[in-house]
Amino acid sequence: MDSQMKTIYDSVIARDPNQPEFHQAVEEVLDSLSPVIQEHPEFLPVVESMVEAERIIQFRVPWFDDSGQLHVNRGFRVQMNGAIGPYKGGLRFHPSVNQSIMKFLAFEQVFKNSLTGLPMGGGKGGSDFNPKGKTDAEVLRFCQSFMMELWRHIGADLDVPAGDIGVGGREVGYLFGMYKKLANEFTGVLTGKGRSYGGSLIRPEATGYGLVYFAREMLATKGKSFEGSTVAISGSGNVAQFACEKVLDLGGVPVTMSDSGGWIYDPAGIDRDKLAWIMDLKNNRRGRISEYADNFDGVTYSKSEPEPSLNGLWDHDVDVALPCATQNEINGKEAQMLVKNGVIAVAEGANMPCTPEAVEVFLENGILFAPGKASNAGGVATSGLEMSQNSLRLSWTRDEVDQRLESIMVEIHKTASETAERYGMPGNYVAGANIAGFLKVAEAMTAQGMI
Ligand code: NDP
Repeated sequence: MDSQMKTIYDSVIARDPNQPEFHQAVEEVLDSLSPVIQEHPEFLPVVESMVEAERIIQFRVPWFDDSGQLHVNRGFRVQMNGAIGPYKGGLRFHPSVNQSIMKFLAFEQVFKNSLTGLPMGGGKGGSDFNPKGKTDAEVLRFCQSFMMELWRHIGADLDVPAGDIGVGGREVGYLFGMYKKLANEFTGVLTGKGRSYGGSLIRPEATGYGLVYFAREMLATKGKSFEGSTVAISGSGNVAQFACEKVLDLGGVPVTMSDSGGWIYDPAGIDRDKLAWIMDLKNNRRGRISEYADNFDGVTYSKSEPEPSLNGLWDHDVDVALPCATQNEINGKEAQMLVKNGVIAVAEGANMPCTPEAVEVFLENGILFAPGKASNAGGVATSGLEMSQNSLRLSWTRDEVDQRLESIMVEIHKTASETAERYGMPGNYVAGANIAGFLKVAEAMTAQGMI
């Protein structure tokens, strides 16, 4: 990082010393921007401005459990940057949620949304509420209480949240119902909605499918493909499930999946029937991935260590790794394991699942590496398509949305790759994605008088 970027980075740390995840996300971007600032010194104040959120809303979320006891959680919405469109980004319900995690996710979202080519600013929100083990009625009461405050800060032309960890179709439905009642209007204020009330086909699949489209493009640059390739996937939620499905469509063999309790390794491969079983386990029965090993022969289940959480999952002989669970799940040591075992490509399905040390290991060893802000942008891109359909009062077919998603991912790959090349870092998708995402936002902020 050059001295100008270091000054900005130091001021970010001085302002909020207790936000390590936010620092990590900012550092990665600042590391990439020096060549742009050399060419466009007028953009330096833009960088200083971008590391400060436009607005952060923090609020109390009181709710009653089934026995009538009161619980109080904390809610957030970070409106990071609205230069190129309404704020857009998911809501995360997980006990680890705090302002640092919200800000890192919102910051990443700004660049990601810019890369999609669609007019969407960046935001993120959520709560430290833990939906695990809660009844439907408790989740409903929590969502209604959360929306009771959030509704006044969002809107179809202002800020359009979606799902993330712990927020799927059920939660989006409850949140949308409450928004509609409070605002007294039916608008496309949330994406990831159910089909019967304005949701888009392919939105549930979009992040996982988009991830695999991006990885396919990367592999093609080395004359490789998914056909016959073994693939390690982490997580077993929305992104992981549909990444697994698209890997199968393209002839790959997924061999691992995980949840926060541990991970399974299935050397015979997770086929379509087994994936359907996992989807039922996770989406309907809300069970644990350990049950997979009890149900299918030849499978090993290992509990994850508290720190680092996944360790041995990455110690398998695989061609492609798709981390799809959470931030910082592959550290430098685990990256070395993957390299030793001959991995060709690593594409982030989750946001920031690889630590800076892990990314360095991949880049130093010539591994194809896709940062989440490029490779998992298919989710928000399809959310953008859902917003367009809502505005047009139209519903596109499955094929139409899938084709648009695929061409957006091909385009993001091309943009990241060409930008890296143009700035003298061929093959470095991290730099390419950061610079390309930054340029569009920087031009818009400058044109609008930097407010
Ligand atoms: P889900 O809640 O559907 O699934 C998350 C999965 O990751 C679950 O298997 C969960 O296990 C596991 N997990 C969560 N936290 C941890 C942890 N601390 N340690 C180990 N495992 C963990 O979320 P999504 O699939 O939607 O999101 C996954 C990642 O993808 C996140 O980083 C998210 O920000 C990112 N993402 C999601 C998008 C989307 O459209 N949904 C779009 C772009 C990025 P368990 O069930 O035990 O908690």
